[in-house]
Amino acid sequence: MSVPLNAETIRDAPKVLLHDHLDGGLRPATVIELAAEGGYGALPSTDAAELGHWFLAASHSGSLVRYLEGFGHTVAVMQTADALVRVASECAQDLAADGVVYAEVRFAPELHVEQGLALDAVVEAVLEGFRVGTALAAEQGRRIRVGCLLTAMRHAARSREIADLAVRYRDVGVCGFDIAGAEAGFPPTRHLDAFEYLRQQNAHFTIHAGEAFGLPSIWEALQWCGADRLGHGVRIVDDITIGEDGSAKLGLLAAYVRDMRIPLEMCPTSNVHTGAAASLAEHPIGLLRRLRFRVTVNTDNRLMSDVSMTSEMTALADTFGYDWSDLQWFTVNAMKSAFLGFDERLALINDVIKPGYAALQA
Ligand SMILES: [Zn+2]
Repeated sequence: MSVPLNAETIRDAPKVLLHDHLDGGLRPATVIELAAEGGYGALPSTDAAELGHWFLAASHSGSLVRYLEGFGHTVAVMQTADALVRVASECAQDLAADGVVYAEVRFAPELHVEQGLALDAVVEAVLEGFRVGTALAAEQGRRIRVGCLLTAMRHAARSREIADLAVRYRDVGVCGFDIAGAEAGFPPTRHLDAFEYLRQQNAHFTIHAGEAFGLPSIWEALQWCGADRLGHGVRIVDDITIGEDGSAKLGLLAAYVRDMRIPLEMCPTSNVHTGAAASLAEHPIGLLRRLRFRVTVNTDNRLMSDVSMTSEMTALADTFGYDWSDLQWFTVNAMKSAFLGFDERLALINDVIKPGYAALQA
């Protein structure tokens, strides 16, 4: 007799998060307090509940400009070392309270230098925040491990510099690299020198690809750049044909992604908000899970989409009828795909994840 699945019980299940943006996950009250401290007067509201609604409405609006406006506000209040420490600490605490046992949180250092912080100082502040937040969570009996990914913006020209930063800080909490930003017009191949450098350094990276833009973006990320994982990757379904009998025929690229067990960092609710999927029920995650791609479940932007790992998994269970074994499958997939040493991944799977789900299914 297994424990029934609902938001409360799913919160207690061990979860792994690979795709979460630091500047997309602030607490509304923190945005307001940091804005007041830093003299930032452009927030649409100084009431936490109202501001939270504003972010969600902006992400739902169907307008990318309005969606990005939200990041304008969060990034504006993340320009000092103290602010970055606080935001990162709260991020670790919030994820731990959500039952996340391992997370890789990403941010773009180049976006946090408007008030003169050096790139190194940005990274050090965020790492310090994760240390503080992890320790505070442990005091509450919540064990979490948080690593970070350094993101370079695809429209900018600092990727080589950010890649160097990721390599220099890899032994102290940075576990990989990412590029993010508008896909159309900014192919990942613009950053080949950064990817080449990372490969030479035996470093790991993921690339946002196949979210809004189609197969060419995924193909370039894998076959030109050598990405270890795909951020989103939802458009891989464009290379899958479903026959009238329900059978699936995979094209060469989709077959490659599945055969090579390329992890897909899927963020279903975020995709619905940005229009990359029409609804949760129509989200490609249903098909890709059925075809046993290396699917993982992620939040993307917890503030903008008003989601958590718990709400995301609960929504998927409600929509697709997933049970504990499905949620464990997503979680083990994510842990296997983490940019963490093999022995440590294995330890988390065998000592934390499997016993956690076994208890729920007992
Ligand atoms: Zn993302």
